Amino acid sequence: MTDIQDNIGSECSDKIIPPAVLLKNIIKRYPVGDAEIEVLHGVSLNIEVGEFVAIIGPSGSGKTTLMNILGLMDTATEGRFELQGRNVSSLSADQRAEARGRIFGFIFQRYNLLTTQTALENVELPGFYIGMPAEKRKERALMLLQSLGLGHRTANRPTQLSGGEQQRVAVSRALMNGGSIILADEPTGALDTSRGKELMLKIHELHKNGHTVILITHDPGVAAEADRVIRIVDGNIISDERQPSRALPIIQSQDDSAEDDSAEEEVLGVHPSLGLPEPALRKRIVLFAGFMEAVRMATHALRANLFRTFLTMLGVIIGVSSVVAMLAIGEGSQQSMMQSMSRMGTNMLRIEPGAKTSLQGGVLTLLDVAAINNINHVRQIVPRVWSTQILRYRDKAYSCGVAAVSPNYADAENRIVVMGSFFNQRDNETCAPVVVLGMKSYLELFQRGENPLGKYILLNNAPFMVVGVVTVRGGHGDGRDREDDVAYIPIATGEARIFRSPRLSQIGVQVDEFKNVDLVQDEIRTRLNRLRNQEDFRIFNQAAMIEAQRHAQDTFRFLLGSVASVALIVGGIGVMNIMLVNVVERTREIGVRMACGARSRDIQLQFLTEAVLVCLMGGVIGVILGALISSGLVVGDTKAVLTLPPVIVSFGAAFVTGVLFGYWPARKASQLDPVVALSAE
Ligand code: ADP
Ligand code: MG
Repeated sequence: MTDIQDNIGSECSDKIIPPAVLLKNIIKRYPVGDAEIEVLHGVSLNIEVGEFVAIIGPSGSGKTTLMNILGLMDTATEGRFELQGRNVSSLSADQRAEARGRIFGFIFQRYNLLTTQTALENVELPGFYIGMPAEKRKERALMLLQSLGLGHRTANRPTQLSGGEQQRVAVSRALMNGGSIILADEPTGALDTSRGKELMLKIHELHKNGHTVILITHDPGVAAEADRVIRIVDGNIISDERQPSRALPIIQSQDDSAEDDSAEEEVLGVHPSLGLPEPALRKRIVLFAGFMEAVRMATHALRANLFRTFLTMLGVIIGVSSVVAMLAIGEGSQQSMMQSMSRMGTNMLRIEPGAKTSLQGGVLTLLDVAAINNINHVRQIVPRVWSTQILRYRDKAYSCGVAAVSPNYADAENRIVVMGSFFNQRDNETCAPVVVLGMKSYLELFQRGENPLGKYILLNNAPFMVVGVVTVRGGHGDGRDREDDVAYIPIATGEARIFRSPRLSQIGVQVDEFKNVDLVQDEIRTRLNRLRNQEDFRIFNQAAMIEAQRHAQDTFRFLLGSVASVALIVGGIGVMNIMLVNVVERTREIGVRMACGARSRDIQLQFLTEAVLVCLMGGVIGVILGALISSGLVVGDTKAVLTLPPVIVSFGAAFVTGVLFGYWPARKASQLDPVVALSAE
């Protein structure tokens, strides 16, 4: 590639200048079904630097085919092609793209402007692909448009321009990189006579300023303006005539005005050195700036069809917002689970009688309580004895569990006293016949609203005075909780008046902090075993249950997340679908970009950027929508709780979706053949 550049740079030396174009026996065949048709049958041609050549021939004679080969858009099947003295048949696709961008300026019959970009951006395009810095690009594009009388139309899109104006934009674009060879395929074909004449004036001017001009036409009137006319019929050159002395009146008039317009000459002339960076540096510039530029062009392309862009985004929006909302619900349910677990006492250990290894039930007594009383990290101990008793009040009888507990029970087990108070240490020491009712047993024995305090109920046929009513903290408060269906008496009272035996049903141990639970559990086991020769008790640890719950919650969250991800995948497929349609619709645009020097990876970056951009925008909207949904979302009694990680995860997922589902369409776009792409309807 560098040698082609060197060549442009060395044109002004006094060495023998090699021809701009040298073709020897060029044969071009196209595969048609299983067979092949030969379109060019051995074309040999020599075009010197600075010549103005017209190639004329009837439709279908192979003119466009020849131009595509000359412009490195296509390769010959056989034959030798030297461009500025260098054999180009061995160039790679990327090298050909770069040479297209640097050496040639293409002017097409149908202008081939990008409809989503402004006139200025259209002109800038080839500069971008050869790595011209942004300011320089803009400056030069503006200068070119001004010199072609379009200074006031730079911000217009092609659809807002007339045919003649569009073709002038196309000419500016062909001149953007200062390419030395102008290739024009029927440039006047779509213009009316006066616009056509205007364009031919410009082309003469380019020739006069040192460009080699190769003009393809089927119009003898247009061909006659060139210095040399090559006739091609059925893929063979049948005549090649030079008309050096031909003095055209139009050129004459142009010459007259040339003096007072030297700035224009400067602009339209051949610029072998545009201050372009070397290819190595260019790679870096293009990689960085290329991304920014791709973002800019992608926004334009997306803006050009807002409704479709929105529909494409919709799938991603739905996907992302459902991921956010589902994960928020998962988080909410996790939190409410943790709350109810801690209400139940996450740092409680429960010791119950009963051996693991034998059927014989063990015995726990207050001696055991005393043995573990002074263990480090133990906050309090609640011994209790359970029995089922019949409570009577007036004509009502109610059977429920009666717990004989120590006075610290209410505090240790998170009970709230709704009426009266819990019995105290003194009641316990004096074996007072007092009872605290759970919400349920209160409701069963008393009328709603009736004050039970000070009333006597019969318990095991002995009168007990009601001193309080309790319920579960954070529970329903209406007696629906299992723990509400109970009555409490002081443990000493129970032992003295009811059970008459020192056997405890359970010892509750409250540990100061959750993290010390295991430590305390081990110590309790050691101490209790010291008192007996066989382990006849069990210690239940809530921590294990919490772990199990948390695990179940994680599974639940993962499930929710996966269901929502399916929505995101469907959204991604939508993006891919639209991008594929996009590639088909914009095939011609891809061809134009390639003619302007875009390599396949530039095209790939372009389309990938569009897909990623759509997904990221969908991601932003989806996150906002998901946050709005979660703020109002309540499932059962679980409120959604939005945290940062799901937002980051779903946003990342949107990005990955863009890359994943944009990759294939982008790759498809980049692998298009330039000629095929350019000739697409
Ligand atoms: P012109 O530009 O002179 O009108 P073309 O160079 O476009 O002619 O085409 C020359 C011949 O080559 C035509 O007969 C056309 O059908 C054929 N041709 C061009 N491109 C292809 C192709 N990709 N596959 C098969 N035949 C093609
Ligand atoms: Mg043609």
